[in-house]
Amino acid sequence: MTVSREQPGAPGQSAPRPLRDRRLVQATLATCVALCTSAIPDILSAQWRNLPPLGVGLAAMGAVMCMVRAGRRNGAVALMLCSLFGTVCLLMWQNGGLRDTSLLAFPCMLVFAAMLGTRRLYFGLLAAMLAMIAGLLVAETHAWHASRVPPLTYNTFVDLASVLFVTSVIAWLMASDMHAALDAVHEQNEQMAAAQQRMEIMATHDALTGLPNRSLARDRFEQAAAAARRGEHSVAMLYLDLDNFKNVNDTLGHGSGDTLLKLVSERLAGLLRNADTVARLGGDEFLLLVPEVHDGAAVAEIANKVVSGLMAPFDVIGMEIFAGCSLGITMFPADGADFDSLLKKADIAMYRAKESGRNAFRFWDGEMNASVVEHVALLSAMRTAIAHRDFTLSYQPQFDLRTGRLIGAEALIRWRHAEMGNISPVRFIPLAERSGLIIPIGDWVLQEACAQAQRWRAAGWTDLTISVNVSPVQFKRGSVETSVAQALADSGLPSANLELELTESLLIQDSLTLIESLATLRRMGVRFAIDDFGTGYSNLAYLKRFEVERLKIDQTFVRRLTDDVQDQAIVRAIVQMAASLNLYTVAEGVEDGATLALLGDLGCQQGQGFHWSPAVPAAEFEAFLKVPA
Ligand code: C2E
Ligand code: MG
Ligand code: MG
Repeated sequence: MTVSREQPGAPGQSAPRPLRDRRLVQATLATCVALCTSAIPDILSAQWRNLPPLGVGLAAMGAVMCMVRAGRRNGAVALMLCSLFGTVCLLMWQNGGLRDTSLLAFPCMLVFAAMLGTRRLYFGLLAAMLAMIAGLLVAETHAWHASRVPPLTYNTFVDLASVLFVTSVIAWLMASDMHAALDAVHEQNEQMAAAQQRMEIMATHDALTGLPNRSLARDRFEQAAAAARRGEHSVAMLYLDLDNFKNVNDTLGHGSGDTLLKLVSERLAGLLRNADTVARLGGDEFLLLVPEVHDGAAVAEIANKVVSGLMAPFDVIGMEIFAGCSLGITMFPADGADFDSLLKKADIAMYRAKESGRNAFRFWDGEMNASVVEHVALLSAMRTAIAHRDFTLSYQPQFDLRTGRLIGAEALIRWRHAEMGNISPVRFIPLAERSGLIIPIGDWVLQEACAQAQRWRAAGWTDLTISVNVSPVQFKRGSVETSVAQALADSGLPSANLELELTESLLIQDSLTLIESLATLRRMGVRFAIDDFGTGYSNLAYLKRFEVERLKIDQTFVRRLTDDVQDQAIVRAIVQMAASLNLYTVAEGVEDGATLALLGDLGCQQGQGFHWSPAVPAAEFEAFLKVPA
């Protein structure tokens, strides 16, 4: 017999409805066959005594079939068992009593009742059977009834075979159902176990890279820390942040970003030992745990290996992508006792590494904590300053070195805090960049500088160029084109009178959005200068691409120009290169006449610095405007 594809349940009440109906029909048919088979020898030998009970039984089976069809299964089961019980009792009474072969049907009926009947029916039937047996026994022993044990004939075989047939059918059906149910349970168990395993992996691993996630990293750390306490060694925690991930994501799309993250994960796993843990904390941040270290030097070696390992390019959709990374390192137990505080400190140390020029690592030191507290205070003060418009602009004049004529002014932001006093932009601009506050601050600077320049233009100084410093963050997170267009429109300043001072680190990024932003600004007629030239990158291809007009030679080369031949060589090289590219050079930080003279000899065309004036408020700046050229 084949087991149906319907989901079989456990025998008895829990079997699904259609299956139980089918089992009932199959058992009823088997019973019909057995009843007919038992009747045949009686008919052949013209013994009519047994035919009425057999006939009643058969008729009852017909009624059972009808009831199943009508969906009354419980009633059908009860009718089937009761009628069979009645038939068997009659046969026993008429024939061999307790020695009659039909008694063998009782166990089979009980099995069937257990399989498809209700509990009441089952126990009722059992009780009735026992009562019948007891009744017969009493009747026989008291000689109220004498059973006639028929002689063993061919009929005996047919009767026994019929009972065995029904029993075997029911036993077979039950066993098949049980096997199917066990198989189903087994399969479900396996599915459950697999689902549980998947859920466990999902709860402890990062879906994209398959690396452990923060919660598993925490577990591993706890284990490593416990072992470190026993073994008196340290656990190193390295917080890793990719330097160039945002660019890849922004310019090549999230698909490429994901590919890069996977490649980075694989490379990191290859760089560390099996005992170490590489976990992904989210975004482009990873955590490396080295469970057994004995000194900082060993960790520095690992950090070095990781930094240089990630400096090699990655092949993303056929392009060479440089990810680079910055690492912050904390050690257990020296830097903290728990996972969260060590992670926070490692994060701060990582930022320090980033500030120091990327592709670097930094160990946590106590001073970093103090600076974090200071940063938090400064950040909230900066928010208030933006709301209260506490910033001002000062203007530093720029001169033509050959003619001595004033050519423009660089707008430099100033912040005087009621309690903290003057706060240098060197201190607060990087913080504003990191927090995003540079966007509103930068917009305000553009508005204010353009308005001031237009006021000076209106007063007659029409060819004055105003230079405004623009942070790379304004390009990345804000919309500089819109801010510039707004500032020009609001002030009425012609775009040719505005110069944006860009950093080399911005131009080196070469992202599509940046190229579009700069092209839009160029079309508007705004000019570009590169600030602090010479301190950034050596790849100068961007000079051709972005139509820059001026290079501002960084003050570090200008300050000791008269004493340092190397600085002279650098300035000379910059000036010559700029000349061949048709760019002007502006020397920053010119503090004395000797430097000014030397700059002139080296071919530098323009300059600014304390030699003429520091940055001064607009009213003071007007003194320069009045001096005739
Ligand atoms: P920077 O754009 O290179 O500005 C030149 C800095 O050198 C200014 O410092 C200026 O006061 C100073 N300086 C000018 N002449 C001399 C000199 O002869 N000797 C010396 N030792 N220093 C001189 P400041 O104003 O402190 O600005 C520092 C930096 O802060 C700026 O460097 C610029 O990168 C940033 N910054 C200032 N204002 C803004 C702003 O409005 N927006 C943005 N994004 N950054 C700004
Ligand atoms: Mg500048
Ligand atoms: Mg500068």
